[in-house]
Amino acid sequence: MHTQPPGLYEAALPEDWPQPEALGFGQILGPYLVHAQHCAESGWHAPSVSARAALPVPMASAGLQYGFSVFEGLKAYRDASDRIHLFRPRDHARRLQHSAQRLVMPEPTEELFMTLCQLAVQVHARYVPPHGRGSLYLRPTLYAEEDALGFRPASRHRLAVAVTPCSDPVLRHNRLWAETELIRAAPGGIGAAKTGGNYAAGIAGQQRARQKGYDDVIWLDALTHRELAEAGTMNVFVQIGNEVLTPPLDGTILPGITRDSVLRLLRTEGVPVSEHRISLDELAAAGMAGQLGTAFGVGTAARLTMIDEISDGSTAIRFRDTGLATRLYDKLKQVQEGATHALREWRVAVPVPSSAD
Ligand SMILES: *Cc1c(COP(=O)(O)O)cnc(C)c1O
Repeated sequence: MHTQPPGLYEAALPEDWPQPEALGFGQILGPYLVHAQHCAESGWHAPSVSARAALPVPMASAGLQYGFSVFEGLKAYRDASDRIHLFRPRDHARRLQHSAQRLVMPEPTEELFMTLCQLAVQVHARYVPPHGRGSLYLRPTLYAEEDALGFRPASRHRLAVAVTPCSDPVLRHNRLWAETELIRAAPGGIGAAKTGGNYAAGIAGQQRARQKGYDDVIWLDALTHRELAEAGTMNVFVQIGNEVLTPPLDGTILPGITRDSVLRLLRTEGVPVSEHRISLDELAAAGMAGQLGTAFGVGTAARLTMIDEISDGSTAIRFRDTGLATRLYDKLKQVQEGATHALREWRVAVPVPSSAD
């Protein structure tokens, strides 16, 4: 079933290949999947490469039936010398292990994760946009694929990496709807695992936000519905006075790698930051006192999005542009694209023979 491509580095670009700025996000998928199977009896098998359409998921699998699927999202960039690197791949590997652990799925080793990601970039090297103009987004996904309906840990899983070339995200301004009825995650639940179930729980809130004329939803805590959690695909930061706050990793929010990068950049710049609960009432009070600065969401796909307003229908909180978000966006872009030597330990080179040029 698993056919190897004619040779590595051979995925040719489609005829109608657009400019990087027109790629958007997730529209065009690379032709190959790089994957490895796990069997309960024999452990992880060797990686292989297949045409994307050649890997069906059985309808009765626990992956489809019960949501046994955890994933990652990371990017490969070209630096100014045209070398390709992955951004913080080992941190993504470790997060995938934590997600797998929470759902009682086999944890891929860091080395297997790295091998699959490197191979996925290598066979799609031509899909990586030029320096500064976009990236190749990788979607490693671990799912249960045993063809059986019983509710128990599956005996066969697969870790597969799909890729999609995407534009460099522009710095957008969003207005967010603070959802006070629906919740995304609760203490003790799976909110900190990067798993499809959290997205399924969140889509109705996103729809409600859009129907009310907002760009996206911002989730609140499950108990009081007053404290900020996250924006569904982005972790959030707010500036009050000269301090920057972000909600703590209490198990109900996703521990974002971009969140961690931003914390590090802020600390490097000497900006006071703390991981602290942030209530809507506190934000409203800070707004009244003229203390409210900028707010923004961060994540791998969009990098950084400004939050202009958060409203729950009765209280509207408006943020000011203090220039901080733009500065962070630029800094993060530089670090991710290898345009600076700073934090180069976050970049892992992917060797690609020059035949891919
Ligand atoms: C992936 C994800 C994020 C952002 O995490 P990054 O590692 O920064 O990309 C935030 N929230 C949720 C629910 C996510 O799935």
